[in-house]
Amino acid sequence: MKVTVISGGVGGARFTRGLLALLAERLPDGKGGTTAAVTVVANTGDDLWLHGVRVCPDLDTVMYTLGGAVHEDQGWGRRAESSRVSTDLASYDVGWEWFTLGDLDLATHLARTQLLREGRPLSAVTAHLCRRWEPGVTLLPMTDHEVETHVVVDDGPTGQRLLHFEEWWVRHRAILPARRFVQVGLEDAVPAPGVVEALRDADVVILPPSNPVVSIGTVLAIPGIRDAVVATRAPVVGVSPVIGGAAVRGMADACLQAIGVETSAEAVARHLGLRTRDGVLDAWLVDTVDAAAATALARDGWSTRAVPTLMTDVPATARIAAAALGLVGL
Ligand code: GDP
Ligand code: CA
Repeated sequence: MKVTVISGGVGGARFTRGLLALLAERLPDGKGGTTAAVTVVANTGDDLWLHGVRVCPDLDTVMYTLGGAVHEDQGWGRRAESSRVSTDLASYDVGWEWFTLGDLDLATHLARTQLLREGRPLSAVTAHLCRRWEPGVTLLPMTDHEVETHVVVDDGPTGQRLLHFEEWWVRHRAILPARRFVQVGLEDAVPAPGVVEALRDADVVILPPSNPVVSIGTVLAIPGIRDAVVATRAPVVGVSPVIGGAAVRGMADACLQAIGVETSAEAVARHLGLRTRDGVLDAWLVDTVDAAAATALARDGWSTRAVPTLMTDVPATARIAAAALGLVGL
């Protein structure tokens, strides 16, 4: 069985960890893992150059989470982390002092940057880093090209300015009203090797509860990826990242607002759309508190169900994954 997941950072990583636990139960390989082949296509729109190193927040969150190295409470970064280098760097007044680069995390960025400088593409570099962490999935960046999400915000009464997504998200806590998102470098980008094949040859494609705008939306915007999702013979099922009118963790509502989509499980589903009507989905899993959304969507031809979707721990997340697969008969 081949499963392909389109992921952002924390939401996608946690979901995939539960999915792997479920598959290890259903299709065990006898060594604690699964015989199912899971591919994660991760957003790299949040990537940035900082202090001379390439930082890939979502790739690393997936790698650390599935590799058992993640800082569990935080959801990203390394456990047992320290920040001596960051603290010291701040004294030089260079870079962004509000963006935390942990000491152990920095080793990952240094290794990645070294390999990139040797001329290897990000997909090959990611595979190299994953040899250490053994995430149990094939982890692919959406593209080997540098595509960065920037945010257009108002600046003064008439002007607008562009800032990197991470600056808007982390430094300004998404409080500056975003007018729109721009993926810088998108035109020249092509999917990383293996991405289109993973979508084409999958038995099921899953959109986990990741940010629908700046995670899922950015991956789908890479020329060729959306078409591959639309064209795949596999069923495509999504899990709502919105529960009861709110993004569970983080500030995804600010992103939805910027693109004029209401923060509701139903509106996000309709935004992503049914494949039979120019969208990318066949099925949509919502939380029990959004049972009314499921009823409304079902009336419009959606395959949908309401179950508890809070990823409180791995077993609970495995049940969410089971419900998602169940929606498409798996
Ligand atoms: P990021 O790149 O780290 O922001 O992570 P993602 O894009 O993968 O996912 C972030 C989104 O996951 C958040 O905006 C939430 O809407 C969603 N999310 C986080 N935790 C949960 C959860 O327990 N259940 C559900 N349904 N969604 C969640
Ligand atoms: Ca992210």
